[in-house]
Amino acid sequence: FDVHGAPIVGNDGQLKGMVLVFHDITELKKLEQARKDFVANVSHELKTPVTSLKGFTETLLDGAMHDEALREKFLTIIAKESVRLEELIGDLLELSRIEGEHFELNWEEVNLQELTSEVSLMLSEKARAKKMEIHTKSEGDVTIPADASRLKQVMINLINNAIVYSPEGGEIFVRLKGQEENVVMEVTDTGIGISKKEIPRIFERFYRVDRARSRNSGGTGLGLAIVKHLAEAHHAKLSVDSKPGRGTTFRMVFLRKPFGDEK
Ligand code: ADP
Repeated sequence: FDVHGAPIVGNDGQLKGMVLVFHDITELKKLEQARKDFVANVSHELKTPVTSLKGFTETLLDGAMHDEALREKFLTIIAKESVRLEELIGDLLELSRIEGEHFELNWEEVNLQELTSEVSLMLSEKARAKKMEIHTKSEGDVTIPADASRLKQVMINLINNAIVYSPEGGEIFVRLKGQEENVVMEVTDTGIGISKKEIPRIFERFYRVDRARSRNSGGTGLGLAIVKHLAEAHHAKLSVDSKPGRGTTFRMVFLRKPFGDEK
C-alpha cells in the first residue's frame, strides 16, 4: 500500500484530525516489474545475434576471409543471424503495433479454407524437410468477418510451431468447422506436447518451455504472444489441449457476429 496523509487543522490552529489515503499499488508494481522484465528480455534477445555478427565479422577481417572455406562458413552464419535479428525486430514491432492504442483490424469477409491452403503452401517446404504433411479438413461455411493478413499471421505462427515442435515424420491437421453461431479452427500436431503446468505461460512474451531447443529452432519467443493478442482483437476464444509426448491442439472459436447485433 502507498499511504498519503494530510492533517485537518481547525480555525483556531488546533489539529482536528488526519485524512489518510491508502492506495493499492500491487497492480502497479506488477506492471512495472513486467515492463522491466520485458526490457531485460528484449535486450538479451537482441544482444545474442549482434554479438555473433560482431564476432564473425571481426574474425573475417582479422584474416579468416582469405580462407575460402572459412569465409563461406562465416558469411553463412552472418546471413542466418541477420535474418534472425530481422525476424525478432519484425515480431517486436508487430507486437507493439497490436498492443498500441490505435490498433484496429481491417475487417473483411475471410474464407478460412482459402487462407489455410495459402499458409499450407507457404510452409509445405519446411514441413517436407521434416517429412511432415499438413492435412486440411473443412466442413460447413467457414467464411468469417476477420482481418485476412492478421489471421494469416496467426495461422503461420500456429502451423510453424506445429512443424518446429514435432519430430520428423509427424502429422499436422488443420480442421475447420462452420457452425451456426461460430466457426472453429483447430491446428493439431503429433509433436512433443506441452505439460499442463506450462500451458498458461506459453502465451507470455519470450516464454519458452525449453529455451535452448526453441532458440536453436529459430523462434523469437513472441509467436504465441502475437497469436493471443490477435485472437482477442478478433473476439475469438483461444484454447490449448496437449498431451506431453503425444501432441497439441490449438483451438480458436470465431463468432459469426463478433460485434454483437450492430453488424
Ligand atoms: P517460439 O518462437 O519459441 O516458438 P512461441 O511464442 O511461438 O515462441 O511459443 C512459445 C513456446 O511454447 C515455445 O518455445 C514452445 O516451448 C511452446 N510451443 C508452442 N507451440 C508448441 C507446439 N505446437 N508443441 C509444443 N510446444 C509448443
